[in-house]
Amino acid sequence: MNNDIFQGYKGEALEVLKKFNVRVWSHAIIDTTRGKFEGTILPRSEHQDDKHIVVKLATGYNIGITAKNIKSIKELGYKKAHYGIPQKEFPYTPGLPKVKLFGTGGTIASRLDYRTGAVIPAFSPGELYGAVPELADIVNLETEKVFAVFSENMGPEQYIALAKAVAKEIEKGVDGIVIGHGTDTMHHTAAALTFMVQNSPVPIVLVGSQRSSDRPSSDAALNLMHAMKAAGHSDIAEVLVCMFGPTSDEYGLLHKGTRVRKMHSSYRSTFRTIGDTPVAMVTREKITPIKRNYHHRRKDKNVKLLPYFDNRVAMVYYYPGMKPDIIYSLIDNGYKGIVFVGTGLGHVNKAVYPALEKAQEEGVHMYMTVQTLWGYVQMFVYDTGRDIMARGVIPAGNMLPEVAYIKLGWALGQTHDLEKVKELMLTPVNDEITLREPYNGYLVFQGGVPEVEEFIRKIHK
Ligand code: ASP
Repeated sequence: MNNDIFQGYKGEALEVLKKFNVRVWSHAIIDTTRGKFEGTILPRSEHQDDKHIVVKLATGYNIGITAKNIKSIKELGYKKAHYGIPQKEFPYTPGLPKVKLFGTGGTIASRLDYRTGAVIPAFSPGELYGAVPELADIVNLETEKVFAVFSENMGPEQYIALAKAVAKEIEKGVDGIVIGHGTDTMHHTAAALTFMVQNSPVPIVLVGSQRSSDRPSSDAALNLMHAMKAAGHSDIAEVLVCMFGPTSDEYGLLHKGTRVRKMHSSYRSTFRTIGDTPVAMVTREKITPIKRNYHHRRKDKNVKLLPYFDNRVAMVYYYPGMKPDIIYSLIDNGYKGIVFVGTGLGHVNKAVYPALEKAQEEGVHMYMTVQTLWGYVQMFVYDTGRDIMARGVIPAGNMLPEVAYIKLGWALGQTHDLEKVKELMLTPVNDEITLREPYNGYLVFQGGVPEVEEFIRKIHK
């Protein structure tokens, strides 16, 4: 156990703090091989590595500095912050829906104490209630930490474990599920859950935060309230992503798990529905549907669990000048599926054709999506498209590239039969391929365009 002044530090990182005689919560200048940084040394949590010192800069961002790059640290001051958040028992309120919150990690889980910037290791109902007491007015809550990872570390193994945990909870009779998740790959997990947990009678809502909870502009608390509202009270029994709608904190949006994408690296309104409009708007008080055709909440507990994934699938983002060797190496390494993200209507260059032929011969399942994200693959328009299709590449409609990647892994987890995989790929589970994209969809919620403002005024009365 480290004592209080080195809270959570171990290994190399602890050695560096000791060497320069600085404590957690010191305000310090850190001289490194990459320049000087000034800020407050933050505590670390049990599940973090022993190689970095975490510093809160004046901008509010936390950075990790590799311990071995540190030349010296000079303490300028010290102000111990209150670490941890008060634990209060989450009250049970008869009549409120019962929601289960699964924690997987990400910013929303790791920095919930917005007053101190402290890193908290988990989120028990007590900690959550201490941080966001308003949650108790919305739902009765149970929590469970399934993982504590930043979302780049989520993958097939985690999707399967999460899908099983979610289905089990639904079978027990919960009124809604919320999943705290890192935002970076939330749309991959949302797609995976859509395919793995089908026919859910209750909402399954993924939520995260773009700004850590120690920053005044954090979206963590509000996103959580919106997600709880959606999970406990909405009629939309689908896998949804719940994040800020506009850049202000006016309302949240609920996006379909198969049509959503993280589109901005730092805005809180980073999640956008692509190729459609969001399903609904959400505030603490109410849920306002935008789409009418969604799966309605049911009273039964009949969920269909399909926890399959073959991870020998790759996504290849085409760039001009691509050489076939990349595809050859995938084939040689035993990959069974490739999702191409092609230019325009779905193209790759001629140089890649021989590799497509080889992949086709080897029975590799190949699908085409588009880099434009909006719109459909159209491989009949140019010769190029026809040539690529003749080499076994199947157009995936308006399926988003990441969704196609997840779906192909899920499909190949069930069968390797070319026709059966094609049928699974091209039969939508929940709008991952749609017949048309709404004419106003492309502009909606991009902001600053007259027709957009008018659309928002109409919906948001
Ligand atoms: N890197 C973090 C993650 O995706 C970002 C976040 O949580 O928003 O886990």
